Amino acid sequence: MNCRHCATPLVQTFIDLGFAPPSNAYLTAADLMRPEKYYPLRVKVCDHCWLVQTEDYTKADELFGSDYAYLSSTSSSWLAHAARYVKQIIQQLRLTQDSLVIEVGCNDGYLLRNFTAAGIPCLGVEPTKSTAVLAEQVGIPVICKFFDEELGKQLAKDGNRADLIVGNNVYAHVPDVNGFTRGLKAALKPGGTITLEFPHLMRLIEHNQFDTVYHEHFSYFSLFTAERIFRIAGLRVWNVEELPTHGGSLRIFGCRAGDPRPSSPDVGELLVEEARRGLQTISSYKHFQDRANQIKNDLLIFLLEQKRSGKKVVAYGAAAKGNTLLNYAGVKGDLLPFVLDAAGAKQGKFMPGSHIPILPPSVLEARRPDYLLILPWNIASEIKQQNAWLSELGTKFVTAVPKLYIEEAADPLYRPSITEPEVR
Ligand SMILES: [Zn+2]
Repeated sequence: MNCRHCATPLVQTFIDLGFAPPSNAYLTAADLMRPEKYYPLRVKVCDHCWLVQTEDYTKADELFGSDYAYLSSTSSSWLAHAARYVKQIIQQLRLTQDSLVIEVGCNDGYLLRNFTAAGIPCLGVEPTKSTAVLAEQVGIPVICKFFDEELGKQLAKDGNRADLIVGNNVYAHVPDVNGFTRGLKAALKPGGTITLEFPHLMRLIEHNQFDTVYHEHFSYFSLFTAERIFRIAGLRVWNVEELPTHGGSLRIFGCRAGDPRPSSPDVGELLVEEARRGLQTISSYKHFQDRANQIKNDLLIFLLEQKRSGKKVVAYGAAAKGNTLLNYAGVKGDLLPFVLDAAGAKQGKFMPGSHIPILPPSVLEARRPDYLLILPWNIASEIKQQNAWLSELGTKFVTAVPKLYIEEAADPLYRPSITEPEVR
């Protein structure tokens, strides 16, 4: 396989998580009677442009079926993040009722509805029909397609070039990153701005976030690589912000290459920081597998020890990252009898691979566990707040990434009693 951006043959492995079903392929009871599709989950790093990318194995449309269950609106902290962004960007770019905002991957309209409320015209692009319908219901026009170069050009031809194009957590999901970026340029008005948010590879490595690796994520970006992709597509990254979302994300601001606006010094400073941390050196990518294995082993030892001592552990948050973790660790219902999730669309279904049932959080009232393993560590504080009553009754909160951590235990940095030698 060659690099999706620069076509250099890929020889370096970043992490190999074996085989796994797609992380968002939640199963119904009837699905449990059928075979389940597993795909290799291997991530390579290009030693020329440093794009970290999953191996090719399937088509994008196989992964985003019509029953795709992720809804942005189920996380209150994500909604607040979107509202803050809209307020900030309207002021910064002086957007008015004569502007046009396009969001690529608009999901259920969680973000664009803030523009609508401010009287700014907008247009969503969303390939998943079930979520696009929800955006339309709140009055947002939606093009139900994958955004690509062709669609970008079509939007321009139809007179729909945007003053602002927003793409939040969509860039990583794009198989043809060069074509997508050229499409952004095509759909951008001269003088317009693109903002993209994506998890920052530097933080992913720093905080051992191997559970954010899943098939739906084709790429993991440093600023170095994103800037290179923009530059080659005829765009320029003129500003960057570091965000706490998803364990550490970047928001990059792009404009056309010839745009006269000055670049922020933050861009150069972050590029220097990435280089200082070795993001353009292969050795920096070589220890990630060992650290992922350590997390997997610590989690397994913890679950086995609780099982042996008769304690009950249940999980909270049927997130995609939880599926990566549980499937890599081989955890099944005997160690973790159920996962709780507030999203109605997931309740009554089963986690892909592990087949652990997903139940509504209300069952906690009758079945209080000794430990609540929070799978989406990025919204752990929100989940802890919602379930503070459990903690008052003695339940301890646990997170597995960046390392196993048990809140309010006598020893907050839990050390498993056995340490296994690493076999590779
Ligand atoms: Zn490359």
